[in-house]
Amino acid sequence: MKSIMFSVLSCKCPRCREGNMFKYSLLERPAKFMEMNKACPVCNLNLEQEPGYYYGAMFVSYAFGIIELAVILIAIKLLSKGPFSIETIMIVVTFVYVVLTPVNFRWGRSGWIALFFRHHKNTKKANL
Ligand SMILES: [Zn+2]
Repeated sequence: MKSIMFSVLSCKCPRCREGNMFKYSLLERPAKFMEMNKACPVCNLNLEQEPGYYYGAMFVSYAFGIIELAVILIAIKLLSKGPFSIETIMIVVTFVYVVLTPVNFRWGRSGWIALFFRHHKNTKKANL
């Protein structure tokens, strides 16, 4: 059974946890990382609930960003032999954060919608 964390991190539909929320994979077409399916291709869950529905995804995306930055700072601290200047750390953190923007965007949206829909096992091709 796929967990809710699997659903969020792989950007799967929160209800069936099988259908992709986004049209293209990040590796396939990175420039179109924002394009979502209108509905889940497996269970037909409406992924465009209403205008402004995903505003709250900014908070989820922010939380993922903070976790990533904390991991980076801890890794720099543990792996570095000497002290780095604050400028060097800021450049590394900013670079990594910008590179991860498409990932955080997607995780933010899939995390946000996962807050409002529960998993159902038998929802394939259902229109609930
Ligand atoms: Zn689905």
